Amino acid sequence: MEKVETLLYKKDLNADDLATLLSCTGEEERSLYARSKEVRDNTLGNGVYMRGLIEISNRCIKDCLYCGIRRSNSQARRYALSEENILDAAAFAHRYRYGSVVLQGGERKDEAFITGIEQVVRKIKQLSEGTLGITLSLGEQNEDTYRRWREAGAHRYLLRIETSNEALYRQIHPRDALHDFHTRLECLRSLQRCGYQTGTGVMIGLPGQTIRDLAQDLLFLKEMDIDMVGMGPYLEHHETPLWEQRHLLLPQRERLRLGLHMVSCLRLLMPDINIAATTALQAIDPAGREKALEIGANVIMPNITPLTNRADYQLYENKPGMDEGAEASTARLIESVRNSGCEVRLAAWGDSPHFSHRKNNLSICK
Ligand code: SAM
Ligand code: SF4
Repeated sequence: MEKVETLLYKKDLNADDLATLLSCTGEEERSLYARSKEVRDNTLGNGVYMRGLIEISNRCIKDCLYCGIRRSNSQARRYALSEENILDAAAFAHRYRYGSVVLQGGERKDEAFITGIEQVVRKIKQLSEGTLGITLSLGEQNEDTYRRWREAGAHRYLLRIETSNEALYRQIHPRDALHDFHTRLECLRSLQRCGYQTGTGVMIGLPGQTIRDLAQDLLFLKEMDIDMVGMGPYLEHHETPLWEQRHLLLPQRERLRLGLHMVSCLRLLMPDINIAATTALQAIDPAGREKALEIGANVIMPNITPLTNRADYQLYENKPGMDEGAEASTARLIESVRNSGCEVRLAAWGDSPHFSHRKNNLSICK
């Protein structure tokens, strides 16, 4: 007990300290959660920002071994939202004063895709008279593409490193040039150079992943000077190669607990960044996202993808919220955020304060 209590106030937590915190249970766990909530409240307040998540397409050129929409999954019914559908969803977010939208989807690098995104970003800016913030999560691109999308009006980008352990990264991806750990790292640096608020994150509870790996993941996020983080439990999908390794997995409840510990520890490590309460937490426990908000997360990403396409964007099994329309889920969510002791801050971008503190943040694309 003594040990954890001391670590909660220690300035430079190292890998051993983080491993101790990630493993704590019972009374110590309650102290950890109370402390990370206190750090969030003292640094950022109890405001929670909404990002309307639009899953624009499940077409992907990549074949990540864990993902249900990987290129080789012939069972996945492929779709791409039309520009009109995306704009309708963005208009909904604007009407309901979400403040921001996230356009997420499978990775494509063809010119038609790049131009299409560029155009839709400009149109979202127009329809909201510049007021909607835009986050993109569209995988690895070259710096020229990142720059074009930045200049069109997107100002945040999410690209998870998935795991900072290069050997583990290789085990969960095909071993080819398209799935290279160093390329992914270089993309994160490229996003920072282009002036994006840069987000990354990891999956928690991967087969073969250790507590030590997770502690190193947290230190990686700090070393990379990341502005925002979305991380959540790895969840299996039977149409993926990683399904074969399900006997190595922790029970889902354990993965949820580890996910919450990761949020809590990250808040101690990086008090002024944005941390999302992710959908994968909700897939294990209907109140998983609210639990993350209670202990230090400050961003929530309600799904506003048209209901007709939601079931086809199935990264893992038991994806929640498949039949709940955007209006219903918004009302319910605002209520449950309140129940977690936080307040939804509507019509605000909710930029990461860390970004404005970060050096070189004015290197907006030239
Ligand atoms: N294609 C882009 C990319 O990979 O960065 C963005 C979309 S991708 C579906 C978004 C994230 O989903 C990935 O970074 C990965 O962490 C997560 N994901 C994919 N399959 C998952 C699974 N089985 N369990 C949990 N998260 C998963
Ligand atoms: Fe494609 Fe992203 Fe899924 Fe990998 S995680 S297969 S890049 S959608």
